[in-house]
Amino acid sequence: MSVIATQTICPICSAAASHAWSKSGYDLMECTSCSHLFCECGQASDYVQTTYSDAYFQNGGGGYDDYLEHQDILFAQGKKYAARLGGHVQPGRVLDVGAAAGFLLKGFVDGGWDGVGIEPNPAMARHANEFPGVHVHTGTLEEASYLKPKSFDAATFIQVISHLRRPTDGLNRIHQLLRDDGLLLIETWNRAGWTARALGKHWHQYNPPSVLHWYTPKHLTSILNRCGFQVIDRGRPTKWISVGNGASLLRHSMRESTVGRIATSPLSLVPKSLKAPYFLDDVFWLIAKKIDA
Ligand SMILES: [Zn+2]
Repeated sequence: MSVIATQTICPICSAAASHAWSKSGYDLMECTSCSHLFCECGQASDYVQTTYSDAYFQNGGGGYDDYLEHQDILFAQGKKYAARLGGHVQPGRVLDVGAAAGFLLKGFVDGGWDGVGIEPNPAMARHANEFPGVHVHTGTLEEASYLKPKSFDAATFIQVISHLRRPTDGLNRIHQLLRDDGLLLIETWNRAGWTARALGKHWHQYNPPSVLHWYTPKHLTSILNRCGFQVIDRGRPTKWISVGNGASLLRHSMRESTVGRIATSPLSLVPKSLKAPYFLDDVFWLIAKKIDA
C-alpha cells in the first residue's frame, strides 16, 4: 500500500517527506528539508522478529546466503575495528548492537575488549554465546532497559544503523549507555558514493524491508552532532567480503529489471566460499565521541 506523501514525517528532523521512488513494492521517501532517504515499512510490531528470522541469515534474497560462512572475515574485521578504537581509547567494555553470531565481538574480545552484544535473532545470539568472553543478550536495543547508563567505554553499530526503525532513538540510547567521552563506531553504506550513484535504483543497498535508511557521511555526521556526538575519525573499510553473498544480493536487487536479470544471471555460478577484497566506495566507517547533548 502506498504511503500518502503529505502524511509522512522525516524520522530525523520531523519535516515533511515526499515520495522518491518504489523498490520491491515499498515506498522510499525523501525529506524535503534534510534530504534523508528512508522507508516506513518497519513500523509493524512484529517487524524485527519477522525480518530477522532464521531465513534472513541463511536463505539469500535480501539477507545472507549463509551468515555462518562469514565467520573468518568478521573475526578479522572485528579485530581491525578493535585496533581502530584502540587508537583513541584503552580497551574496556564494548556494546555491539546487532551482534548476530558474535563474530565481530569475538574480534573485539581477541583485541582485549570485554564484549557485550544485543541481537534479536535467538539462534544467532545462542551461537555468539558459545565464544568465551562474548555475552550476547537476545532482543533489541529498545528492549534492553537492563543495561546501565554510562556503563560502556564504546559501542558499535556495524551494518546496523540503516536497519534501525528509529535511528535517533538508538543514538540517544547509546549516548546514555556510554561513559563521558565514550566512543561510538559506525559502519554503514554511502548513498552519495559513485557506486550507489552509478547503480541508481538498482544499488544493492536499496533493499527494503530489511534496510530502512540510507545515509551519506555528511548527513550522518550532522545527525550525530544533533544527538550529542562529535566525529573524531573516519574512513573506508579495507575488508574482505564473500563474493557469493555479494552476487546473491546483486541478483536480488536487479530482479525487477529484465536486462538486470540477464546481466546478473551468471552470478548464480559464483561459489559461496569465494572471498575477495571489497574495493567499492559505497561503504564507510566513522568514530564519534560522546559530548554533552
Ligand atoms: Zn529530515
